[in-house]
Amino acid sequence: MVNYKDLGLVNTKEMFAKAVKGGYAIPAFNFNTMEQMQAIIQAAVETKSPVIMQVSKGARNYANGTILRYMAQGAVEYAKELGMANPQIVLHLDHGDTFELCKDCIDNGFSSVMIDGSSKPYEENIALTKQVVEYAHAHGVTVEAELGVLAGVEDEVQAEESHYTKPEEVIDFATRTGCDSLAISIGTSHGAYKFKPEQCTRDPKTGKLVPPPLAFDVLHAIEKKLPGFPIVLHGSSSVPQDEVDTINAHGGKLPDAVGIPEEQLREASKSAVCKINIDSDSRLAMTAAIRKYFDENPSHFDPRQYLKPARENMKKMYIHKIVNVLGSDGKAE
Ligand SMILES: [Zn+2]
Repeated sequence: MVNYKDLGLVNTKEMFAKAVKGGYAIPAFNFNTMEQMQAIIQAAVETKSPVIMQVSKGARNYANGTILRYMAQGAVEYAKELGMANPQIVLHLDHGDTFELCKDCIDNGFSSVMIDGSSKPYEENIALTKQVVEYAHAHGVTVEAELGVLAGVEDEVQAEESHYTKPEEVIDFATRTGCDSLAISIGTSHGAYKFKPEQCTRDPKTGKLVPPPLAFDVLHAIEKKLPGFPIVLHGSSSVPQDEVDTINAHGGKLPDAVGIPEEQLREASKSAVCKINIDSDSRLAMTAAIRKYFDENPSHFDPRQYLKPARENMKKMYIHKIVNVLGSDGKAE
């Protein structure tokens, strides 16, 4: 049994309260490699931002849960070494699907977990979430729940169709489960192909897809029902077209990859949305840098040579999100 406090991590309670009040959002970056972890911490330290490092079930399968926990502990020490006196770092389980998985993470140093019962019938979602909340709160761990279904593919999580969160359900759900934050569905989507071409219009100049806008009316209706309650947006990568172009120019094949425009995420950050999940953009930044490096340096074979520009490119992206999209810079010392 390892408590997150012993690892120097914090839960999301105070972090979210400040973010909602301050009109900004905390970045939640997925990680499963050392280079991603280093880039996330360097970006957080340089911008003085709190950060949520999140791990999906797939990441645990890939990297091993024990190793990831020690990496999170290492991340805290690394942030201190880089000059952050009081790092505000959360280790969060992304899309926990069973009580047992959430319990295992809580028992192994996670400071926050998500229980995603959104694919279950409403009453079952409530019962499962409540069970996780009771165990988590007894250990000081915060819980994110989900209501409404996102479209797209993310590791093991996939759904064909999205269903917007119903504002009329949120008070009942939050009260009966006791969850600390709520992931909602307002048109964001998992993966690098968030929308089918037929859902989009096409920019006549660039030929690129322009996605449909987020349902801000649903977000505002939810905020009215639960004033000040922390709201989470999943699937909020923007799929930068320069990275997609770099990938495609160096042997890749990502036609019509499209994400959520950053102006809309910036607007959402100013509301009760206090956690924004970004995974695909990190994957794209890493892959673009590596593809370019391989193409330009066909004789190189030392992984450090191509992972270094990959790390730099991810760090640049993380800093951009923190400063220009989420506004969480300067909120941690
Ligand atoms: Zn998600």
